[in-house]
Amino acid sequence: MKFIKNLIKEIKKMYDENNIFAKILRKEIPCDKIYEDEFSLFFNDINPKAKIHVLGIPKFPCSNFSEFLKNADNENISSFFRSVELVINKLNIEKNGYRLITNTGQNGGQEVPHFHIHILAGEKIGVLR
Ligand code: 5GP
Repeated sequence: MKFIKNLIKEIKKMYDENNIFAKILRKEIPCDKIYEDEFSLFFNDINPKAKIHVLGIPKFPCSNFSEFLKNADNENISSFFRSVELVINKLNIEKNGYRLITNTGQNGGQEVPHFHIHILAGEKIGVLR
């Protein structure tokens, strides 16, 4: 237990607690919530790039996809990705299609350093670039 607590402390050191999604998770700033459970939170993007633009974030403190997979336990990881699927069903976008994106680092164009998945749908999203 002590080992796990120390590990979480170490992980938190690498993580910017003041990023905007950390503030949303702490309810310091509001969000337009779509779905929430013990492990994740889904909400509408403030600056939508498609008719439907939802962001999904794990509650586990991690800056990007690799850190999430490296540092979170299997329950966190599987629950988060199952929730992505659950939200896709809730949004009723399975039939017409959708795009999932996760940006990482400078080259990926990541703005907010808390791992998140963009769910884009509701219209043809178009080519990647
Ligand atoms: P990134 O570029 O990091 O992959 O995506 C960050 C996303 O977060 C952007 O699409 C941006 O519009 C969204 N975003 C930034 N600040 C806020 C906020 O305060 N609330 C919400 N709901 N979305 C935000």
